[in-house]
Amino acid sequence: MRIDRILASQGPVFSCEFFPPKTPQGGEKLLATIEEIKKLGPSFVSVTYGAMGSNRGQVIELVEKIKNDLGVEAMAHLSCTGHTREELAGVLDQLSAVGIENVLALRGDPPKGEVFQPAPGGFAYASDLAAMIRDRGSFCIGGAAYPEVHPDAPDAETDLNHLLTKVRSGANFLITQLFFSNDDYFDFVERARAKGIEVPILPGIMPITDVGQVKRFTAMCGAKMPAELLSALERADGDPEAVLEVGVEHAIGQCRGLLARGAPGVHFYTLNRSPATRRILTALL
Ligand code: FAD
Repeated sequence: MRIDRILASQGPVFSCEFFPPKTPQGGEKLLATIEEIKKLGPSFVSVTYGAMGSNRGQVIELVEKIKNDLGVEAMAHLSCTGHTREELAGVLDQLSAVGIENVLALRGDPPKGEVFQPAPGGFAYASDLAAMIRDRGSFCIGGAAYPEVHPDAPDAETDLNHLLTKVRSGANFLITQLFFSNDDYFDFVERARAKGIEVPILPGIMPITDVGQVKRFTAMCGAKMPAELLSALERADGDPEAVLEVGVEHAIGQCRGLLARGAPGVHFYTLNRSPATRRILTALL
């Protein structure tokens, strides 16, 4: 089912994001993890796309298995990095052929320390990819959104103008970058609505399970961490169970606050670690 239809017809929408593991054994383990998550009734599961499309075969195989074997709605991420238009069209053909209806259209990131350069014959922005997918007519298109502003953007207003272009180019719904303060999400949604962006904006939440890792992610994407959360994590650092407890409690509070104030659901960045997401979902259901 198309995710825009799910968003229009269901109560809060819960979705989980996974990345394709490197080995076949990892792939089997991931499918078992998704079977466990399935018991909690996620609305859809998404699979990330590796830099330069290095894992495109695995992404297609995984979304196909999630949708057709496990019976869970699936979305494939697709990024412009390193691809010509023809290659992107080829991936879309393969997704269509296995019955996938949902694609998250992304620009992708450059290699560490470099500035993004479109591949020769490729696209510079996610909105260009969204327009190409829209013109094919068959997919529901998601796009990424940044409550705390995309790191490459000169300012919030410019970033929002580009987001409007992405929606006008065909994005049917948006998923946000991770954030830890709900006010950042609600301020952003208000600014987006004022700009004329009317599509659903699903908040992206990353359950914290590792202090070093969350510090690296926040440094990369520019998400602010509230001082109390940071100090609770630093007190727990070194004790994985205690870190998990702090991360899960924070995420439960964040999700409850988001849903209470009208967010259409929550998208979980699981990092392929399901216990935290399962605990959070169980607390919310
Ligand atoms: P864009 O929307 O193209 O924006 C990128 C930058 O360009 C922004 O600063 C924007 O303001 C600017 N811009 C946009 N349009 C224009 C224009 N017309 N003129 C000038 N500037 C413009 N990465 C992966 O590699 N694989 C994944 O699977 C993946 N999944 C993700 C899932 C989510 C929910 C999110 C939030 C991010 C994900 N990413 C993934 C990361 C994403 O690829 C990076 O954040 C990337 O830097 C930007 O991608 P985008 O699609 O938002 O790009």
